[in-house]
Amino acid sequence: MSVLRSLDVGPEFAARVLHDEPMSRHTSWHVGGPADLFFTPRDIMELASFLRQLRPEVAVLWIGLGSNLLVRDGGVRGAVVCTVGSFGALERKSVNVIRAEAGVPCARVAKQCVKWGMGAAEFLAGIPGTLGGALAMNAGAWGGETWRHVIEVEVLDRRGARRTRKRDDYEVGYRQVKGPQNEWFTGATLQFERNARADTDLISELLERRKQTQPIGEWNCGSVFVNPRTDHAARLIEDAGLKGYRIGDASVSTKHANFIINHGKARAADIEALIRHVQSTVARASGIELHTEVRIVGEAR
Ligand SMILES: Cc1cc2nc3c(=O)[nH]c(=O)nc-3n(C[C@H](O)[C@H](O)[C@H](O)COP(=O)(O)OP(=O)(O)OC[C@H]3O[C@@H](n4cnc5c(N)ncnc54)[C@H](O)[C@@H]3O)c2cc1C
Repeated sequence: MSVLRSLDVGPEFAARVLHDEPMSRHTSWHVGGPADLFFTPRDIMELASFLRQLRPEVAVLWIGLGSNLLVRDGGVRGAVVCTVGSFGALERKSVNVIRAEAGVPCARVAKQCVKWGMGAAEFLAGIPGTLGGALAMNAGAWGGETWRHVIEVEVLDRRGARRTRKRDDYEVGYRQVKGPQNEWFTGATLQFERNARADTDLISELLERRKQTQPIGEWNCGSVFVNPRTDHAARLIEDAGLKGYRIGDASVSTKHANFIINHGKARAADIEALIRHVQSTVARASGIELHTEVRIVGEAR
């Protein structure tokens, strides 16, 4: 049972904050121990007042759809803020500019952009996360990348203050975004290409290509490692003979070597041990150090 219980949540939130919520319910690997506090705000005003009344020393982790997150079996100390189910506004601001809130699934952004006659958003269709997660990760696929489209972002800080920031406030790289500490994305204004003939064919084609090459439908977190500058992580893992390698109920996918599958009963510790094993085996075989794309958070049991 968490030591933070009721100490840190004002009476107005007591009924809506979940205590010791299993994070396995909120991650695409379906693993992860309990979060001390788990809060899905109704809107930004409510979230701002929730953050203000939390004691300053309480750590806060924001999550979207948990599709890039390995939460350890001991769970998360502090508060988890989940944007899914709130922060869902998506609007067109001009012929090729949209504003979307952080909880909007990337797939919805892609499909709506096509309907609005905008191109170059199709790559988002296969990314099973939220726009907030895509902003945090600079998610990308098939040559497209989230931050190439960002005009400005809306953020909320740990004290509940709102701000709008320009793209230049961030250092953006491959699956990496560095910006001011202790603030999170609540939405963004994004620019795409005007394309009156945009249709869903390209989306269908990209999704079909994914089905052919990735273990869609199994419990995974997408690519576990970022590609090194000069190579593909999947190729290095395959060449090291690791396809199908198993620890507990977790294994390296036989379909795509950069994916790790939870076959149903894996613990986060199995997945993390497999990640470390892949890293050390690839380093021995090729001299290349693989770095994780997935974010590993929480405490070991
Ligand atoms: C089958 C599969 C395929 C995938 N394919 C791709 C792909 O092609 N390309 C790609 O880039 N990724 C891919 N991913 C990984 C993942 O979907 C992306 O990284 C996605 O952007 C994560 O979004 P999320 O909402 O799930 O974030 P989460 O996993 O919930 O969080 C990821 C990180 O973002 C932070 N975060 C989440 N929301 C916010 C916010 N509002 N403000 C600040 N920080 C926040 C979290 O704290 C965490 O550090 C794939 C995953 C799966 C399971």
